Amino acid sequence: MNGSKVGRVFSGARPTGRQHLGNYLGAIRNYVALQDEYECVYCIVDLHALTTIETTENLRENIHEMALDFLAAGIRPEESIIFIQSHVPQVTELHTILSMVTPLGKLTDLPTFKEKVRQNPNNVNYGLVGYPVLMTADIVLYKTNVVPVGIDQAPHIEFAREVVRSFNYRFNTNVLIEPEMKNTEVPKVIGIDGKDKMSKSLDNHIEIADTPEETLARVMQMVTDPQRIRRSDPGNPDVCNVFSMHKIFSSPDEIAMVDVECRRAGIGCVDCKQLFAKNLNKRLAPFRQRRAEIEKDPNHVQDVLKDGARRARMIATQTIAEVREAVGLY
Ligand code: SF4
Repeated sequence: MNGSKVGRVFSGARPTGRQHLGNYLGAIRNYVALQDEYECVYCIVDLHALTTIETTENLRENIHEMALDFLAAGIRPEESIIFIQSHVPQVTELHTILSMVTPLGKLTDLPTFKEKVRQNPNNVNYGLVGYPVLMTADIVLYKTNVVPVGIDQAPHIEFAREVVRSFNYRFNTNVLIEPEMKNTEVPKVIGIDGKDKMSKSLDNHIEIADTPEETLARVMQMVTDPQRIRRSDPGNPDVCNVFSMHKIFSSPDEIAMVDVECRRAGIGCVDCKQLFAKNLNKRLAPFRQRRAEIEKDPNHVQDVLKDGARRARMIATQTIAEVREAVGLY
């Protein structure tokens, strides 16, 4: 590990293609910031994706677009490891070994498993049950010290810690490290429908790589204070998603202005949205410029992912050798 860093962070993200504002605010900007303090291992978890996706048709493209967004947002591949999960096959071996110390009942009792069963009643596959074990393998394979998670993900890390303890106890070893949680503030970003969490599947998202014109068009579709029907009606910014976004992307003066003017119908929703879109586009401009630069080299993303997998395999090979030794495999 690099001597100037305080530990190793691991985080996995499903390959969902071009990223939206919710991904950016909830994960990507945190990924970028963590690089200053930690050695970071960022994994695009394609195997996890197989548990629920219906087709793999867009998988490669989704991985490429997502990695491109990560790099353009500021993930530094010369420092951090960014790679595709299935390019390090040791993770599946560790998954199998860890599954031997994981009680089945514990897996089927997990609220996340029950939720997945509810969402995909016609595809309750074995991979879905073992998902948390594979996730644990992801984390511990890279000798992770810290996993950044929002509070709702905390049970997953606690689960991983329990599996590590079981393994170390069963085989009288300490080769696997119990990961610590790093609670990160993950804002709940509501989609343009003003109802649900921003998500591609609900088509209520704003992609960060959109053009300024596309962004403006999406912003203009945002649902505002439902009580404000006419331009002359006073609005309530406290219940308006556009105002929540202003709080993140606009200046303090602009936020204060909207807060006051909306309540006395001094500003209309069209103007308010245009202001937000302008600020959002301004904030995303450097990212979009970097993205366009990276795209000029069609092999860059692939080269980065290849090199990331090579470096990840070096750590994984060492861990697996220690695990095999501890277990007593011949
Ligand atoms: S003026 Fe702005 S904050 Fe007020 S309801 Fe319209 S969009 Fe929302």
